[in-house]
Parts: sequence; structure tokens; C-alpha cells
Amino acid sequence: MSQSLLKSVRSFGLILFLIGLFTFSLSLFLGTYSLTEDILTGSVTSSSDREKLSLALKPMLDKTYSNQFEFVREYHALFNDLNETAKREGKWGEVIYADYSFILTKNSTQGFLRENQASLFFFAIIITLLGALLYILPNFSLLGIAGIKNNGVWSNPASNCSWLGFLSAAYLIGFYMFLYFYPEYITGWVLLVEPVSLFLSGKPADQWFLYGFLYTASALVMGVRMFTKYRHSNYQLLRTASVMFFQSAFAFLIPEILKSLNLPSRDLKNIFPLDYSFFYDYNLNYLSSSGTLGLFMLFWGVVLFVLGVPIMTYFFGKRWYCSWVCGCGGLAETLGDPYRQLSDKSLKAWKVERILIHSVLVFSAVLLTFSLYSYFTHESSLLGVETWRVRQAYGFLIGAVFSGVVGTGFYPVMGSRVWCRFGCPLAAYLGIIQRFKSRFRITTNGGQCISCGNCSTYCEMGIDVRAYAQRGENIVRSSCVGCGVCAAVCPRGVLSLENGPEEFRLQELIK
Ligand code: SF4
Ligand code: SF4
Repeated sequence: MSQSLLKSVRSFGLILFLIGLFTFSLSLFLGTYSLTEDILTGSVTSSSDREKLSLALKPMLDKTYSNQFEFVREYHALFNDLNETAKREGKWGEVIYADYSFILTKNSTQGFLRENQASLFFFAIIITLLGALLYILPNFSLLGIAGIKNNGVWSNPASNCSWLGFLSAAYLIGFYMFLYFYPEYITGWVLLVEPVSLFLSGKPADQWFLYGFLYTASALVMGVRMFTKYRHSNYQLLRTASVMFFQSAFAFLIPEILKSLNLPSRDLKNIFPLDYSFFYDYNLNYLSSSGTLGLFMLFWGVVLFVLGVPIMTYFFGKRWYCSWVCGCGGLAETLGDPYRQLSDKSLKAWKVERILIHSVLVFSAVLLTFSLYSYFTHESSLLGVETWRVRQAYGFLIGAVFSGVVGTGFYPVMGSRVWCRFGCPLAAYLGIIQRFKSRFRITTNGGQCISCGNCSTYCEMGIDVRAYAQRGENIVRSSCVGCGVCAAVCPRGVLSLENGPEEFRLQELIK
């Protein structure tokens, strides 16, 4: 195919992508909302809550709302009124603790959105993904011979932290805010992917299915982009294929299939403390009462945390997980790749990184202590602090704000590994082992270094790789995720990721 035709395909892909993204955004506003007694009965499983809501939400029944904002506003007003009255009168049994705003908004959706779910799925999601692929695939030819492909990153407004980067960050942050804190406003998007959920597991979709679907689709499409960009490096090709596989199979498809078989469903590669709710009593009870598979999942989770992490990290460094298996790392290495150069390389950032990430590790240790104490003693508090408060604080601050809103939302302005570098307690745990008891190191051949600085620029963890290379010093930093991109972009072959004998690994300077 001629170069001009390929460029036209790319432009067409971009147009399709923008049309798809516009339709996706617009689809949130294409529904009308009408609550009926039947919807209430089908949505609220607790009969006592149903009875109370049926009375409290009477003014909403059979009324049509033109958008979800009006619907949710009135729902919250009536719901809060019900609870406030009960509390004022001291009738604590009348208070409703469950939140039904998401399920009621979703099930009350009518109009264009409900009637055209399949076409909207096609125009909003398939067209976006197809457009992105058509934009990416011509690069196999347009980028010329295989080799370092980072031309123009600092002049592109999407990747140089200027207006397009800020716009993308605002969109991503908005998405995460709604996902974690106000899912009742994005039920339109959940409905778009509902047919996929019904097909895979036979169960209706919720916001977490939507998230898993979009997460996996982004990792797969942007993984193809990695294939075009780093096709000169077998390490990058294999690593990218690995994160695409683990995300699509382990994090997305297998849990959905297990759900369809009514079996306990988990992402088997998710390890505590990244999977911070693993030792919560409800999860331990659920797994231990879910037959052989549940017991296996419990055993597997504990073995991975206690033995798998130290043994694998001893032999391969933290890269075995952070750059080959982990879902957060997988997204950073695919969707986040255009932003990897934005990581802060200053000494101040390194100091902040060490303080923050180890503080989160300590916080997760406190969470573990409280969780196990409550599980084994059936006490609800330890040292006067209630366990649920520790869980709530951790879930909000670390689970939602840090890992989601900041960790991914800030890709286009702070680089792709904000969460892995500053917040992930599992990365901190892996990093301590990597620093002090591991065979992994990046060796440097200082004599060949021409000080171009590519390695430092594209290190997503903010490591000044060039400074090590110039001194011929091994890199054994706890934060290095072993992505290997520093080696892939080095024009002189100075850097090499190795698992060698521990002897001389920490040798500071090669004499
Ligand atoms: S030093 Fe190299 S391998 Fe380590 S995180 Fe940075 S770019 Fe990746
Ligand atoms: S190690 Fe390679 S990429 Fe880094 S400064 Fe030296 S020559 Fe450039």
C-alpha cells in the first residue's frame, strides 16, 4: 500500500475515533427515566427496604424525567428525607443503609438509549475502537524500519502536557470520579455494555463491568500500538503480549465465565495489598464457604502474597509482576505509553516517592492487622479504633482516590506510572525485596554512552538512568519496574536487564 493511502487510512481512523468518542459521551444524555412499582420490585431485593422505598418514592412513580440528573436529584431528596426523619424520631430500624440510586436509575432508563442499545454500542464503542486501530495499524509501515520511534513527543499537544493533555486528563478524572463516587450518573454507559455482560456471564452489567470492559479494550488496542512502536525489541513484544493476555484472560474473561457458572469469581493474579480487600472478613468467609474452588482461591492468594512475591522477585526482580502481569502496570504500559516521558525526574520527586509509597505500605499493614484481628476475634475494634473506619479510610483514600482518580486520571500530565511509583503498596513490597535480595539489575556499559538522555527521558519511574550509565553503575533501584524501555530506546545498546548472581550486584562503580 502506498504511503499516502496509509496516511489517509490513519486520518480516517482518527475521524472514526472522534465520532465514536463523541457518540460515547453523548449517549449519557439520550435516555429518559421513569420509575414504576415493577421496577422498584425488581431492583430492591430486601423486602423491608422495598416497602419503605415504595412509600417514600411515591411522588416519583410513573413520572418521566428527561435526564438522569433530575431523576437522581429527586431520588436523593426523597431518600434523604426518609432517612433523616427516621433518625430524628430515633427509629433506627426504619433507616435504609443500602444505596439503590445506581440500580434504580439504570433500571428506570427508557427512551432512545434503551431502545437503541445495540446501535449505540456499535457507534459509541466499536467505532471508537475501530477508529483507534485504523489510526495505529498503518504505523507498521509508516514508521519505517524497526527502531526507536519517539519522534515528536515533545511537540505533540497530546503528549507534551499542554492543552490536549489537560483535556484528556479532565475527561479521565471525570470518568473516575463518576465511576467511584457517582455511578448513578453513568448508567447510560453501563447499559451500552450490558449485552456483552449478558453474553459472557448471563448477569446484568454494573459500573465495574463497564470499567473492566473499557480497561481491557484500552489495553488491547494500545497494546497493538506498542507492537508497532517497539517492534525492534523482542523483550517489549513479549512483555506487551503478556500484559494483554493477563488483562483480558485473568482480569476480565475468566472472572466473567466463573460468574456464568455460579462459581466464586476472582482475578487470580491480583495480590494483597494491591487487592486490599482480600483479607476482609466477608471475602475470607465467602471464599472459605465456596467449595473447593473458593478454598483454592484463598490458598492461592495467601501463597502468592507470602511466598510467590519474594521468590519470584528474588529471581526476576519486580518486573515479573509490575511489567508482565499486573493490570495497573498493563494499562500504564499500553494506554500510558504516550505519556511515559512526563514522569518527574527531580530528586525532590524521588524523596516524595519514597515517603509516599512506604507510608501507603505501612497503612496497608495496619489494614491487614485490623482485618485479621476482626476476623479471628470477632471484635469490631482494636485499640479503640473501629475496623470499618480503617477500611473505609483505606478504600476511599488509596483504593479510589489514589489508585483510580490520581493514578490513571493524571497519566496525561504526570506520566503513566503515578500510582505504581507513588502509591502502590505491592510495588513497595516488591521494591524492598528487589533492592536488597534479588538477582535483578540493569547493567550499564558506560564507555558506550553518548549522553543522549533517551533512557532518562523515557523512564516512566522518573529514574535518571543516564546518570548511572555515565558512571557505569548497575541500576538496582527499588522503584525500577523492569519495563526495559530505557534499554529499548538506547541507541548505543548501553543498558541490559539481567538476572545474575547476587555477588557484585550492588557494586557501585566498575573500576
Ligand atoms: S530504569 Fe529502565 S527498566 Fe527501570 S523503570 Fe526505568 S525505563 Fe523501566
Ligand atoms: S545510556 Fe544510552 S540512552 Fe542513556 S544517555 Fe547513554 S547512550 Fe543515551
